[in-house]
Amino acid sequence: MPYHHAANKLTPGLPMRHSMSSHRITQEGGHGVQIEPFEIFAIRYAHLGNRHPGENFITSDPHEFASDLDYFVWVLRRSDRTFVVDTGFTKEEAAKRRREWIRCPAESLRLLDLDAAAVTDVILTHLHYDHAGNLDRFPRARFHLQDREIAYATGRSMCHHELRAAFTLESTLEMVRLIYAERAIFHDADAEVAPGLTLHRVGGHSAGLQIARVWTRRGWVVVASDASHLYANFERRRPFPVVYNVAEMLEGFDLLYKLADSRDHIVPGHDPLVMTYYPAPKPELEGIVVRLDVSPCRRK
Ligand SMILES: [Zn+2]
Ligand SMILES: [Zn+2]
Repeated sequence: MPYHHAANKLTPGLPMRHSMSSHRITQEGGHGVQIEPFEIFAIRYAHLGNRHPGENFITSDPHEFASDLDYFVWVLRRSDRTFVVDTGFTKEEAAKRRREWIRCPAESLRLLDLDAAAVTDVILTHLHYDHAGNLDRFPRARFHLQDREIAYATGRSMCHHELRAAFTLESTLEMVRLIYAERAIFHDADAEVAPGLTLHRVGGHSAGLQIARVWTRRGWVVVASDASHLYANFERRRPFPVVYNVAEMLEGFDLLYKLADSRDHIVPGHDPLVMTYYPAPKPELEGIVVRLDVSPCRRK
């Protein structure tokens, strides 16, 4: 069955800020409608260690600390809707790129009582190998994507190895097949996909990178994905070296602050500190899944 879900365009003037106390659990919608908050989960599925600072920052001091990278997929869930944000990479891709494979991102959804085969909405922040693999594991899903990301991943920029290296041909081809199967939902810049959930194009790291602004019981949380790999990227305004447009990446750091209720409401895409700042939803998921809709506990 074809899908004809037009993206709702947001009116200019974003971000929409709402006054609220941190204890309010509902958001006042435009017509006096209360918006149910989402729960947000991050599932850690892979790891990369032994990095040097030049792999994390464009301008780096070789003597400074170089953070490892963790790899995540995210789940946004409430009573009426569930969204999976990004789909991770496959075991084969992990071996090819020498990443430490911990668990299958699609299978891991079962830890949250979700079946990948039943998921109806997947938000792809961008099409890099670590965010857009495993698409065949979501046979019922429609995939939310920015116009500019598919244009970038299939256009002249891919003639350059430097820009192409973070993409996987198979994933890009699979995404094109999904477009032909009418299972893509395209967004152009800002879009509301559900009350309490908006997507925003950042660009920078990839031409069509988008971030998710999510209404939760602690306010507006921004799932930044690769708009900021690490806390240090956006907090110290130091661009990550896998980049399409440095100026857009820097502007993207500003956008994170604008859209989130505070610095602690911004969740970077690859920082292992996320696993230490946020709690597991239950003891048996310690070190595997954390909840992002509760306030982080930063070690000073
Ligand atoms: Zn990326
Ligand atoms: Zn990434």
